[in-house]
Amino acid sequence: MGSSREAVVAFRSVSKVYGTGEGAVRALDEVTVVVPRGGFTAVMGPSGSGKSTFMNVAAGLDDVTSGEVLVAGEPMHLRDDRARTILRREQVGFVFQSFNLVPTLDVRENVLLPFELAGRRLTGEERGWVDHLLEVLGLSGRMSHRPGELSGGQQQRVAIARALAPRPAVVLADEPTGNLDTRSSREVLGLLRTAAREYGQTIVMVSHDPVAASYADRLLVLADGRLVGDHAGMSPPQIAELLIGLEEGAA
Ligand code: ADP
Repeated sequence: MGSSREAVVAFRSVSKVYGTGEGAVRALDEVTVVVPRGGFTAVMGPSGSGKSTFMNVAAGLDDVTSGEVLVAGEPMHLRDDRARTILRREQVGFVFQSFNLVPTLDVRENVLLPFELAGRRLTGEERGWVDHLLEVLGLSGRMSHRPGELSGGQQQRVAIARALAPRPAVVLADEPTGNLDTRSSREVLGLLRTAAREYGQTIVMVSHDPVAASYADRLLVLADGRLVGDHAGMSPPQIAELLIGLEEGAA
């Protein structure tokens, strides 16, 4: 049964240690958290607090030192690189700060790339879904444009369409508005929020921008690899205050 509280990503006592002995760095320290389906979660914390490691582990790009990581019910910590790559291809979508579109492909080809990489044709239903996404994201009139012919905001909308198209278990977004102006940022964040609320798409986003994080319905806070905060949606000033407190604590 697909309960609305179904866990899409679950960390159980996850630790990730880089290096050994004196030089060892505990990038994640006993992190336990469950991300349920349809949630839009922001991950924040000072530089070096473990945000990238958190995302890499959730994506199966990094293995863990101890603990359990479940993605779409699959135990990532028990899988080898190859199995994790397959799981990532099938279950995880990515949105990056730098858009990461293929410059030689047009908009539609970029959005269809996940299907191409998986070596499978779209069903009629999926074709309808992709057309719907392109329409909702305002890209219908730009189908044959290449990324270089689009603004930053438009490129990021293509990247969002590409991430949502295969309906992955989770979309991981890393500073998705880091290269955008204020107006495009708001558009992109609004679209991510819509994807979560209306399509039930689970989204985990790293951002250090309090305005960006305020679009999420949940805020996870990391400090020194530990999960030190788990809050329901907050306003930008509340988030800014929280972060200032953390940075002062670290100083
Ligand atoms: P954030 O994304 O919050 O800046 P990171 O997850 O990148 O934090 O890093 C957490 C800690 O782990 C930092 O102290 C960082 O230096 C360390 N770290 C990250 N990746 C590596 C690596 N590949 N080798 C060694 N140390 C690493």
